[in-house]
Amino acid sequence: MPPALARLLRKADLPEPKGPRVVIVGGGWSGLSMAKYLRLQNPGFDVVLIDRQPAFLSFPLSNAWLADQVNMEFLSHSFFEAANRHGYRFVQASVLGFDRTSRKVFTDTGIIAYDYLVLAPGIEYDYSQIGIEDPVIQEQLYHRYPGGFFSSSELLTIKRKIQAFRRGTFLLTVPSGDYRCSAAPYERACVMAALFRRRGIRGKILILDMNNEITIMKDAFERAFHELYGDLIDYQPSSLLAGLDLEKRTIETEFDEFTFDDAIIYPPIRASRLLEEAGIADPHSTQKTARTDPFRYHLVDDERVYVTGDSRSQPFSKGGHTANSEAQYVAEVITAHALGREVEWRSPQTMCFSTVAIDPLRAMSHITYYRYDEATKDFAFDRIHSVEKWDVTGGQASIAWAEGMFRDMFYE
Ligand SMILES: Cc1cc2nc3c(=O)[nH]c(=O)nc-3n(C[C@H](O)[C@H](O)[C@H](O)COP(=O)(O)OP(=O)(O)OC[C@H]3O[C@@H](n4cnc5c(N)ncnc54)[C@H](O)[C@@H]3O)c2cc1C
Repeated sequence: MPPALARLLRKADLPEPKGPRVVIVGGGWSGLSMAKYLRLQNPGFDVVLIDRQPAFLSFPLSNAWLADQVNMEFLSHSFFEAANRHGYRFVQASVLGFDRTSRKVFTDTGIIAYDYLVLAPGIEYDYSQIGIEDPVIQEQLYHRYPGGFFSSSELLTIKRKIQAFRRGTFLLTVPSGDYRCSAAPYERACVMAALFRRRGIRGKILILDMNNEITIMKDAFERAFHELYGDLIDYQPSSLLAGLDLEKRTIETEFDEFTFDDAIIYPPIRASRLLEEAGIADPHSTQKTARTDPFRYHLVDDERVYVTGDSRSQPFSKGGHTANSEAQYVAEVITAHALGREVEWRSPQTMCFSTVAIDPLRAMSHITYYRYDEATKDFAFDRIHSVEKWDVTGGQASIAWAEGMFRDMFYE
């Protein structure tokens, strides 16, 4: 057997755990916060965080980075530094699957046994929801016109595309459903328009929104599109995609056909395929999320396996701040479970900043909590606080917010 294959079947190189081992799959906002708060809640836990990437790169504030308002050092941070500071172990590996009977996680660097498993692998694109079923075309679409909401390397492509754009139509799509970071596609349109203005580009940003209207801070984004970027942004709501020709660069909606010179195509999303491949996805769920207890986050038939972050099944806004505040609560739930106790449910908090203008950075913000509605048996928005005007104070607050979050996950 080739050594690389044999490695899959042996135990990963980790010291024997000194306490119950919690394995966390995914070192994004959810997994990183979970690892830190599990160790804080219960220093006896042996926590292992696994991510396939060598370093963390933040999506929040990445739109500001596209316009050089923050640099790469601001967005990227070391998993190892976080692990050393907070007393857990970071393993750079791809998780291939897990077995709930023997409580083992299979990775490309070996097998890791767990007492508790937290799945925080984030999202994937679901091109089939816009009628593109052929995996070869999906791959081409992903490489040529990445959406910039799944992997950090998409962001590098997008920045290069924006810098190279000279004239014509730059297409942006906004997906339907509970997609990752509601405000970010509209924010990106504003940032791109500001950059085109700065460089005197004769072009248009065509936004084809699969929703009937702007999904968050509607009045404010409409105002920004008209007042600041009326000559650059063409916003088209209710634009369900009906066809796409990559060679001719045309896109069809129910009633129209548009040509474009370049594009960022953000399709609807789904939970990571890891859940479906492990047989825990609910076949009735559009986003292929797992069947979990809505208050405790564990699988309905397994209190040792938890699903958090953007892969969760609860309809909370998919945001880094949501994932961070949720992880603090779920770390308490797991700690309590290990001690045979219970903790009372509390809502995650969503906080989202949106850059609207640059030079200097001007932003607006949105904060929300959730409550459980006994009548509908589902979660609904509770308190909402929106600052729907963009200014320099909002821009500075967005930087301070991100600094505070990075400090929490990496340095404190
Ligand atoms: C442009 C943009 C702007 C945004 N702005 C904001 C904002 O202002 N505020 C806010 O709160 N949120 C914002 N967000 C949303 C935020 O980035 C996400 O909600 C957050 O990243 C979700 O965290 P997560 O840990 O669930 O998923 P992720 O951050 O995607 O992390 C998942 C991790 O799992 C790893 N992984 C997946 N599968 C495997 C596997 N099989 N093996 C090993 N590792 C694996 C991945 O490498 C990844 O590191 C923004 C997003 C974008 C794209």
